[in-house]
Amino acid sequence: MFGVYIHIPFCRKACTYCNFHFSTNLRNTDDMIRAISGEIELTALPTQGIKTLYFGGGTPSLLAPSALKILFEALKEKTDFSGMTEITLECNPEDISIKSLKSWKDLGVSRLSLGLQSLNNAELQAMNRAHTAEQSLKSLSLIGEFGGFEVSVDLIYGTPWKTDQEWQQELEFILNLDHVQHLSAYALSIESKTQLAFQIKAGTVLAGKDERMIAQFELLQHEIQERGWEAYEISNYCRKQHRAIHNSHYWTFVPYYGFGPSAHSFDGHQQRYHNHANNARYLSEINAAQLPRIEERLSDADCLNERLMTGLRTIDGVEIAQLHRFHGDWERENRQQILHFIEQGLLYKVGDALQLSASGKLISDRIISDLMWVE
Ligand code: SF4
Repeated sequence: MFGVYIHIPFCRKACTYCNFHFSTNLRNTDDMIRAISGEIELTALPTQGIKTLYFGGGTPSLLAPSALKILFEALKEKTDFSGMTEITLECNPEDISIKSLKSWKDLGVSRLSLGLQSLNNAELQAMNRAHTAEQSLKSLSLIGEFGGFEVSVDLIYGTPWKTDQEWQQELEFILNLDHVQHLSAYALSIESKTQLAFQIKAGTVLAGKDERMIAQFELLQHEIQERGWEAYEISNYCRKQHRAIHNSHYWTFVPYYGFGPSAHSFDGHQQRYHNHANNARYLSEINAAQLPRIEERLSDADCLNERLMTGLRTIDGVEIAQLHRFHGDWERENRQQILHFIEQGLLYKVGDALQLSASGKLISDRIISDLMWVE
């Protein structure tokens, strides 16, 4: 079993907070599509076993259907799609129309991940998003009218621009839509070298307050719980039976193949590859018939720490036996720290698993870093 991720490295505008790899120069999208299909051709992909396909970015929805079709065909040449369970396309509201929805459906897309981020025009503008709140609402109603897709919505909270009341209204609106089954809600993080980080440094934007982040996270948990949705990962929430399969596979270490600039691949054990996060370099290496990637051998400590981090973020927590595959003394070495977190009500031990409590989720980064194995 394996998944495939395809990174489309183009966006219409640069959102101020974003540190993903993308370019706003849309002139060479055709070259890029040819190169990504070339990378697929060069890769030794298993002929059977693909379960999920995910188009992320960047903004895959800005591609013409003919471009997406080239990528589907390149993949289908290499691997049998008959066991496929989920095909996701990340899309932005400005790209949604009945025509685009139909073209994606015809290609076999089953799930849309819609990057709304906010329903507030002032906030959208402050973040330099390419769409308005009106386009967000229109896109949601078109998707509902068209029907037939699993739908996930992305929202951001804890920003300098969103009040608690506005956040509550956004949540209520989205969670009450019958055709939305999944929510990815991200706490705004200020990444270095982003425009937002420069704005905050220059004092033109005030950083969001921690209290606001905490209040909005708690509001989110309350709204999710009240509706009987499942909080299955710190940033991911869904109606029962609607977890994102592709992303869940990342957290359970299922192998995946990544194509396109900056995409990562993982063999399910200790081998990872990452492609150059540079469009020109990626194109030139593919043109020279070389795989544009760097190989990385994960140490036992890398594997343990990744399992700890991803496991603790999920509803099931992390099984200690999984960590002991890489370091048999991990629990003994961390016993005092684990007991301390349990006494503070931040961690639970359920069977062999450690799980974060609601208050533990608020400081998950600190807990995870305190429990990491440093060789
Ligand atoms: S659309 Fe998405 S990938 Fe593109 S700049 Fe904005 S947040 Fe980043």
